[in-house]
Amino acid sequence: MANYEDIFKKVVSHAKEYGYVFQSSEIYDGLAAAYDYGPNGVELKNNIKNYWWKSMVNMHENIVGLDSSIFMHPTTWKASGHIDAFNDPLVDNKDSKKRYRADVLIEDHIAKIEAKIDKDCVKAAKRFGDAFNREEFVTTNGRILDRQKQIDAINEKMNTSLSSGDLEGVKALIEELDIKCPVSGTNNWTDVRQFNLMFKTQMGATADGASDLYLRPETAQGIFVNFLNVQKTARMKIPFGIAQIGKAFRNEIVARQFIFRMREFEQMEMQFFVRPGEEMKWYDYWKEFRMKWHNSLAMGEENYRFHDHENLAHYANAAADIEFKFPFGFKELEGIHSRTDFDLKAHQEHSGKKLQYFDPEIGESYVPYVVETSIGLDRMFLTVLSHSFREEQLENGESRVVLKIPALLAPLKAAILPLTKKDGMPEKAREIMKSLQVDFNCQYEEKDSIGKRYRRQDAIGTPYCITVDHQTLENNTVTLRDRDTMIQERVSVEKLHSIIAEKVNIAKYLA
Ligand code: ATP
Repeated sequence: MANYEDIFKKVVSHAKEYGYVFQSSEIYDGLAAAYDYGPNGVELKNNIKNYWWKSMVNMHENIVGLDSSIFMHPTTWKASGHIDAFNDPLVDNKDSKKRYRADVLIEDHIAKIEAKIDKDCVKAAKRFGDAFNREEFVTTNGRILDRQKQIDAINEKMNTSLSSGDLEGVKALIEELDIKCPVSGTNNWTDVRQFNLMFKTQMGATADGASDLYLRPETAQGIFVNFLNVQKTARMKIPFGIAQIGKAFRNEIVARQFIFRMREFEQMEMQFFVRPGEEMKWYDYWKEFRMKWHNSLAMGEENYRFHDHENLAHYANAAADIEFKFPFGFKELEGIHSRTDFDLKAHQEHSGKKLQYFDPEIGESYVPYVVETSIGLDRMFLTVLSHSFREEQLENGESRVVLKIPALLAPLKAAILPLTKKDGMPEKAREIMKSLQVDFNCQYEEKDSIGKRYRRQDAIGTPYCITVDHQTLENNTVTLRDRDTMIQERVSVEKLHSIIAEKVNIAKYLA
């Protein structure tokens, strides 16, 4: 088994063991692609939401929030194009009866060629030693150039077929590349068909079809239909943004990789309304701003990259993904899309209500253009979890599992541990707990040896352990242990609050 699969499996079981993520309805053998967040998971999720909201809404005078409903008038989805075009191409293997997304099969094939390039580089790096220059090698080595040419040709064919709706072309490409089903090992494929990703349901007691509803597949449309409500009541002037965090639902054909692709998930979206013609300026601005936000968490700049879209969605005139290096490779974490005036215009036409803005600076009314930033909260959660997970060999020969979660996002900020259950230590520890818990999520723990308790807090990712011992009762000092360095210092109880506050200072992260 490849090493990354091993690590990913460990992350998934760690997430369960330490109360981060459970399979939904586990006692009934689970429901595919639905997950529940446990006590530590919900804290991490809330902290991510809060960090995003602070940066996007509270730190921008011209961005305000919204919480729109999941159910929307069904015409919303006609107008947005989701009923007609929110499809994925699916294909079945006739032997294994397994279903795949056709574009993902092709992308996986490309990933295999990319892996070969990586392998060539590793070999060359060994051969050339310090003199190895990857950039130069990949742009001059004949074999690698051939492989890159193959990738470019496949991408071009796939994008041409997908954007023109040529499903036969997609199938022909799968056959030409001789892509085989990982389960049956055969290339016996059905035709490629379109599959709509929206979940349908009904409202009220009638079953006559008039009340067919959809669970929203994105939060954005709730923002569009409220554009004028928000603009008028919050007295916003263009350019301005509306942000929203909420659930979205997609009937994904193949849902896999844990919380990476779910059928019920949560999005953090912001629609930024701009003057027509200024959208590219703002598109560039938000691309940079969002990348900066990711980098502020210090999870390695080399783990993020932009991927500019060639195959644009029906509403966009420019689009890029921010990809993160998950254990299974670089994959989309966030999308930044220039959505033109497509959505507002479509809602204007379908509702018969004007969705325009009078721009006092130029004395004109227009339908604004929109630049959107859209990040999956669950994918961000997986980013943090998978990047933080470490198995470390210690100098004393022991090993530990630690989640090096950025302190600001960690579910617990400190654990307060009386050395023993007697001599007034628990009482003192509880007193310390009381003084910290209003501002920081803390845990009091007195069971097991102190070493075991340290390990448990490492595995949860708690930045600080505070140990109360005999000396504490004499001079009001405690041992403060740092999760990452494992260094223990003696500090005065009065200083604890400011030390933790400094560590999780949001202003410092956002600076
Ligand atoms: P993908 O290509 O992976 O299907 P997408 O391009 O359809 O994603 P968008 O419509 O741009 O995704 O949605 C914005 C964000 O919502 C994505 O960047 C991702 O983080 C998140 N997201 C989309 N689909 C899912 C899903 N099924 N499960 C979890 N998060 C998702």
